[in-house]
Amino acid sequence: MSEVGPRDGLQSISPILPLEAKKAWIAAEAAAGVREIEVGSFVPAKVLPQLADTAEVVAFARTIPGLTVAVLVPNARGAAAAIEAGAHKLTLPLSVSETHSLRNLRRTHDQVLAEAREIAAMVAAVPQDSRPHFEGSLSTAFGCTLEGAIPDAQIARLAEGLMAAGCDEVGISDTTGYADPASVKRLIKLVRGVVGEEAVTGIHLHNTRGLGLANALAALDSGLTTIDSSLAGLGGCPFAPGASGNIVTEDLVFMLEAMGLRTGIDLEKLNAVRDILAKELPGEPLYGFTPDAGLPLGFRPAHEQKLEVA
Ligand code: ZN
Repeated sequence: MSEVGPRDGLQSISPILPLEAKKAWIAAEAAAGVREIEVGSFVPAKVLPQLADTAEVVAFARTIPGLTVAVLVPNARGAAAAIEAGAHKLTLPLSVSETHSLRNLRRTHDQVLAEAREIAAMVAAVPQDSRPHFEGSLSTAFGCTLEGAIPDAQIARLAEGLMAAGCDEVGISDTTGYADPASVKRLIKLVRGVVGEEAVTGIHLHNTRGLGLANALAALDSGLTTIDSSLAGLGGCPFAPGASGNIVTEDLVFMLEAMGLRTGIDLEKLNAVRDILAKELPGEPLYGFTPDAGLPLGFRPAHEQKLEVA
């Protein structure tokens, strides 16, 4: 799994989490066993003041052994800053809805693909041993609030376009929370069909309509290995009061461990990380069923489970 709270969660709330608190959050979550964290986004500070210190956050996160430090980059300029800061993974969103792309990034599909080519060239210029991984992410892939469903052919063409531009992989993102388990399986199959199985490993899901974990399970069944989630579902969902924004990390980890799938994450340590958010972001709702209910009596994480012999 990939923790995206410090980026997707924090960009969705108005209070600005101080740099020291971001560091404490990332360090504590890494200590709980989380191996990949999207720590910020290289967007102009006037657009997202919550993430203005991303370069400093990256510099800190890089000092944590074994942690993959991921960031979002909206364009080549952001990517240059991300590379300079030493991020391990860059994700460029490409909204498959052109209307959404124009509204959000003020760029057409062709313009975003041109940025992708420019970023790929910058990435390729980094010496191989420190070269970041470059992902293009198909956002609004399950439908757009402005355009509705996007034709398969358009999604396929853009996935191919990202790989042709030089991305290492293509991610799938349910920006609007429109996905259901059947559409998750269908879209993974579609995108893998055009760019190859090994070029699609991750998915970004929102819990807008309560289907986040069901969709995560569908993605796992389809063979994806990286599922984005957010600690305490931070940020909520602006369209659905009471619903977490991303999938709640604690609930996702509980589901995986209960199923016997090893995450390497200690659930009790993970739950304790919430205290940092509760203290530093007073009044911000913290979501998650598992933290509230506690672990079941006799719960055994995956590494303590023995396979039943049939
Ligand atoms: Zn998101």
